[in-house]
Amino acid sequence: MNKGHIRNLDWAGLETEIRGMGQPPFRAKQVFQWVQQKGVSHWEEMTNVPKTIRDQLAVKYELAGLSVLKRDVSKLDGTVKYLLGLKDGETVETVLMAYEEQEGRDRKTVCVSTQVGCPLGCSFCATGKWGFIRNLEVNEILGQVLAVNQDLSRKGEAPVTNLVFMGMGEPLLNYDHLIKSLRILNHPDGLNISLRRISVSTSGIVPGIRRLAQEGMPLVLAVSLHAPNNELRDRLMPINRRYPLEELLDACYYWVSETNRRITFEYILLAGINDNLQQARELAELLKGLLANVNLIPYNGVAEAPFRQPSRNRITAFRRYLEEHGVTAVVREERGSDIAAACGQLRGQEMRGKDDYQI
Ligand code: SAH
Ligand code: SF4
Repeated sequence: MNKGHIRNLDWAGLETEIRGMGQPPFRAKQVFQWVQQKGVSHWEEMTNVPKTIRDQLAVKYELAGLSVLKRDVSKLDGTVKYLLGLKDGETVETVLMAYEEQEGRDRKTVCVSTQVGCPLGCSFCATGKWGFIRNLEVNEILGQVLAVNQDLSRKGEAPVTNLVFMGMGEPLLNYDHLIKSLRILNHPDGLNISLRRISVSTSGIVPGIRRLAQEGMPLVLAVSLHAPNNELRDRLMPINRRYPLEELLDACYYWVSETNRRITFEYILLAGINDNLQQARELAELLKGLLANVNLIPYNGVAEAPFRQPSRNRITAFRRYLEEHGVTAVVREERGSDIAAACGQLRGQEMRGKDDYQI
């Protein structure tokens, strides 16, 4: 029999399972904490759970975590990139970025993947070039955060505080697993990470944005825009032909009106393609009246892709134009560029030995 993974169960699912075994609810709480908070990989580790319960669960469920196949540390800024192995031999990449916070505890942000590869094929993105293999299961999404926490705890460091769903794949095309994972990550008996410390980035899957607005989750929604008009966006992001800017912006207005929360627009700056001041003007026009801010991301080199990062002067001029026209904009510094851990560089295919960057 093909066993399911116990980390795919949310609180209600596990409770039902334990109740079905004739056990009291506090056992569900204990097991949930071992599985979703401590992230154990072996049933014997659940020391306060009777062996009979562990044995019964082991007949039905897997418990193994993801295996760390490779771990690269950036010499520039300490960013860590993990190559994680999945049960079927596929791999994903997960990135840990550490920031010093002004006051209080340090911020540790994990960049989480939601798919193996991505079906959307944006022209500037390493993951997109790689094509789509499959959606990640809930345990594979959660397993990334737990693997990083275990690595941190081995070094005596505090656990992850923030998450960005900006790794490999399109989160809103793996919607149900995304939502279930978010609820488990947020659960007090799980990692108890506040939804306010979680960003979900989408390339603009309109029905997904509308659905997410109804979930009552105070997340940060990030929308990858990258172009201020349909003509250019069609060329950079094929998904724009399915959901053009008018529909995307409508969905963004809907998000703001339903959640009362602002939207972060991501805009990769590509030299000579989308970085002139006329385009800054179009962008400011497009976002006028919307509760939004813009993250400008200097393009991160992807092997032989035909793009370049604009000069600092040009980046600053673009940002200044937006600011002067009522749009809050920051330039996001790239992290871990020496280990190809920056945004859009994740490809997780060391195992496959492919190199297909001819465009
Ligand atoms: N699929 C989702 C989330 C993953 S991509 C999305 O597209 O939003 C996360 C972010 O990295 C997106 O804003 C994406 O556009 C950006 N990105 C992709 N390739 C990049 C590159 N080469 N340089 C800089 N940012 C890149
Ligand atoms: Fe997919 Fe996002 Fe990369 Fe586009 S940028 S190919 S949507 S992962």
